[in-house]
Amino acid sequence: MSDLAPRVRDMTTTATGAIPRADGPPAEGQPASPAEARDVASAASLAGERPVGAGPLGEGAGGGSAAPGDAAVSGQRFVGSLSPSRAADFVSCPLKYRFRVVDRLPEPPSPAATRGTMVHSVLERLFDLPPAGRTPEAAVELLPAAWADLLAREPELAAMFPDGEALEAWLASARELLAGYFALEDPRRLAPAARELYVEHVLGSGLRLRGYVDRLDEATTPDGLALRVVDYKTGRSPGPAFEGTALFQMRFYALLLWRIRGVVPRELRLYYLGDRTWLRVTPDESDLLATERRVQALWAAIDRAHRTGDWRATPSKLCGWCDHQSRCPAFGGTPPPLPVAVGSGGPLVDDADPAVCEAAG
Ligand code: SF4
Repeated sequence: MSDLAPRVRDMTTTATGAIPRADGPPAEGQPASPAEARDVASAASLAGERPVGAGPLGEGAGGGSAAPGDAAVSGQRFVGSLSPSRAADFVSCPLKYRFRVVDRLPEPPSPAATRGTMVHSVLERLFDLPPAGRTPEAAVELLPAAWADLLAREPELAAMFPDGEALEAWLASARELLAGYFALEDPRRLAPAARELYVEHVLGSGLRLRGYVDRLDEATTPDGLALRVVDYKTGRSPGPAFEGTALFQMRFYALLLWRIRGVVPRELRLYYLGDRTWLRVTPDESDLLATERRVQALWAAIDRAHRTGDWRATPSKLCGWCDHQSRCPAFGGTPPPLPVAVGSGGPLVDDADPAVCEAAG
């Protein structure tokens, strides 16, 4: 394991005092000082995350089988559906959102995204082991099985690697990310309440919010139940221009948990394994109400684009990671015609399975 020191950026927005940990004392290697935090690498990367939008994106717009307001989940009707990843897509480029959600264009697997999925799988499985067994060595031993499971589901992933040497280099980079995780916290001290937790809530407006929380920690404190939301990123920590997007995703999850559990999560943590840095924020109700307003405003913009067909290309440096340059006007391409059913207006549903679309966060 490298001796690269972990770093933390405390994005705390409210003074709530000490944040209780679900696992007792702080893990080794935890924060660094705010001064250290300023040294965080600024390279934003969405490339090291799990795959986004590959394959079918579920019912709704493309299928055109449902009328507005004609969809229901868990007995609740909804007019549309949004995950943090797709929300981030629309914010960064409405046309990219269209390609993923409306056209449902497939995106080829990438080594970085697949590695992200594999590392997430290992970190989830790690907590199946007895606490004392959650060591860096044990995590590395879980990698082959996680890779084999991915290959069993998607045999075409093997084609990403021209030879054994390329595959081994890729696996080595995954081992390095796992080492990065252990530099940030000690899982032997943790007893997560949930991993890969699906959360969903339909707002009063009928907009369904949903997503998967990588890990939820719970603790009973004198002040009541304390929740901590943890998300792993296998890329590097974002620079200032992208920090807001990352924290929006966490607040999105916090809003969901608040609405579902009636408890404002005490702490939101984003672990960036790529550069061993974590972001932390402690939200309060006003934060989450603001998040809800932002989500509603975002949905209004998506709905407007959906009705008018005006999905604007918004070039940025994120285009470098976009699979749709060949059909993007900003790169001389021509988007395919919009699916006919979209014009008739069905509820826009972000993804059939948001578990596989964590990337943009
Ligand atoms: S290439 Fe850039 S501008 Fe075009 S759709 Fe992708 S992200 Fe948007």
